[in-house]
Amino acid sequence: MFNKQSVHFSLFIVLISCLAYPQCRPNNSTHTFSPNAFSPDISANDIHSHIKFLASDSLQGRESGSEFEAMAANYIIQAFEQYGVEPKGNDGTFLQDFTINIARLTNPHASDDTKGERRVASNVIGWIPGRSNTDYIIIGAHYDHLGYGSFGSLYSGTNPRIHNGADDNASGTAGLLELAHYFSENPPEDNLLLLAFSGEEMGLLGSANYVEEPTIDLAKAKAMINMDMIGRMSDKNLFIFGIGTTPKWSELVTAVNNDSLNLNLVEDGTGASDHTSFYYKNIPVLHYFTGTHSDYHRPSDDLAYIEEEGQELVVTHVAKLINALGSLSKEELPFIEAPGKQRQTMTFNGPTLGVLPDYGFEGLGMRITGINPGQPAHNAGLQSGDIIVALGETSFKDIYGYMGVLNTLKIGQKITITIVRDGKEQTLDLQL
Ligand SMILES: [Zn+2]
Repeated sequence: MFNKQSVHFSLFIVLISCLAYPQCRPNNSTHTFSPNAFSPDISANDIHSHIKFLASDSLQGRESGSEFEAMAANYIIQAFEQYGVEPKGNDGTFLQDFTINIARLTNPHASDDTKGERRVASNVIGWIPGRSNTDYIIIGAHYDHLGYGSFGSLYSGTNPRIHNGADDNASGTAGLLELAHYFSENPPEDNLLLLAFSGEEMGLLGSANYVEEPTIDLAKAKAMINMDMIGRMSDKNLFIFGIGTTPKWSELVTAVNNDSLNLNLVEDGTGASDHTSFYYKNIPVLHYFTGTHSDYHRPSDDLAYIEEEGQELVVTHVAKLINALGSLSKEELPFIEAPGKQRQTMTFNGPTLGVLPDYGFEGLGMRITGINPGQPAHNAGLQSGDIIVALGETSFKDIYGYMGVLNTLKIGQKITITIVRDGKEQTLDLQL
């Protein structure tokens, strides 16, 4: 998942808003579909072996445009070929290359002709013909990660370390491969376009490139389903974003939930991953996500912490959904803009502390699971696990209160920040 402060706030807020807003429906709402008895053969063992390879040190963190990411791309291609998936990249290959201008990543205002490093990265694209429909469903997952952490890392140690990205996003890539395996043997009604994106961690670059240069007409895309960070399920909790992008999503994802997952349904179609690129092309999207954790964007995001059995349930849910979509026409899945309430949260422009909120924290204040080096919170001495309860004299109960207070402050302002660490409250000086 792409680490961008404002986007994380959005993600956090929409998650929190599930508690407060009825549009985030629990999974026990009534539905008109009969429970789907069919159980696709998605295997935790296969998922484990894919992640084991993709998140191994030999791939050195799969940084976009590196030879190690190319090894990951080759692995995906070999799996596709083994399953009989057809190439749908450029010139009869599985690949779609695009160029990353590294100078523009660090300075968005750099002109196009800025000299400096350019890298070629590749999306990997496959196709499984469906049984009857002319439309197609897009299944996506990014396979790049942070390499040694030169972009987007929350690791604060001095020695560069490999960021293996087992959850982010070897897990989603393994899901993509397992769905390719299953559906190549059991073709669904719809055609399937399988997209393994590069450049996600540098800012959704691969998916942005794809939607500008699609290898098959986007007008026939019925829906886009993105899997990013699906390997850490706990208590059967599954977040699905994008529920507000077509009226039928809520009913459909609930109808195929016969594994009794705790579905946390979130309306927003935009967020910190590649489905956003397709949302802006007016395609109904979903993003499957099992939640963040303290290893997010750190060298410790490793295979050992992956919950393969939980991920099997996630990928099985996707497979059932794809089968359920087969009986619906594209017209029955009209794109709608997700409600503006959450969209507004994308435009937060005040000062930031440079922290990653704990998405699951329900106590008083805002717990943080990550700190961006060199940012105000880091400079003030905050640590992962701290709970922020007040800025200056103003205390707050939750992320809403925190955002409200932050919005009244200015970049450069000196204030105090009150936190709870190890159960004890303390106040630190902070410069925004
Ligand atoms: Zn990420």
